[in-house]
Amino acid sequence: MSSRNRDRPRGLLGPATEFLRNIRFSQDQVVDRQVKLHGYRPSDVKYLVVSHLHLDHSGGMKLFPDAQFLVMKGELPYAYWPDRKARNGFILNDLLPTRSFNWKELAGDTDLFDDGSLMMLKTAGHTPGECSLQVRLKDFSIVLTGDTVHIRPQLRTLAAMDSDYDQADASASIKRLRDIETSGEAKLWISHAPEDWAHYAHVME
Ligand SMILES: [Zn+2]
Repeated sequence: MSSRNRDRPRGLLGPATEFLRNIRFSQDQVVDRQVKLHGYRPSDVKYLVVSHLHLDHSGGMKLFPDAQFLVMKGELPYAYWPDRKARNGFILNDLLPTRSFNWKELAGDTDLFDDGSLMMLKTAGHTPGECSLQVRLKDFSIVLTGDTVHIRPQLRTLAAMDSDYDQADASASIKRLRDIETSGEAKLWISHAPEDWAHYAHVME
């Protein structure tokens, strides 16, 4: 979400304002401020990997007009024209300013720099183009899981969410991530798991 729209959520979010009303969000948590707190300008960001286009994962996209946006095939058309039951999850006002941006759709797993450092993993199910990003650092690998998994107990049950687009695909994708973690190949950072945010270093004051 941009800083300008943070203060007038109804105009930006429409009906979704109601179910988000208890979420508190400070000016410094807007993504361009977070980038600056890491010592960069938004224009320094050359690539954006979009896990999926739900409102809580895509709100600041328009702050990066110079970046190349990477997304799995199927996500963009669904975000613009979702099923009726999924409609409140996508905010057209977040998407429209990015229509002229540099988007690249990928068909499946992709080694972004051909060196294994950043791997986009197709983990569809939550949405048609849901993906995860495996980041290989010098002595540590981690997968940023988007919304493929919401909470850690799902790794045990492999249960999809009611709201997932395709529950069989969602379960298979959760299993894929569980296998990556249990094999020791990489840790998982689950976006909606408070214990993961407590565990990994980040800026979000
Ligand atoms: Zn989502």
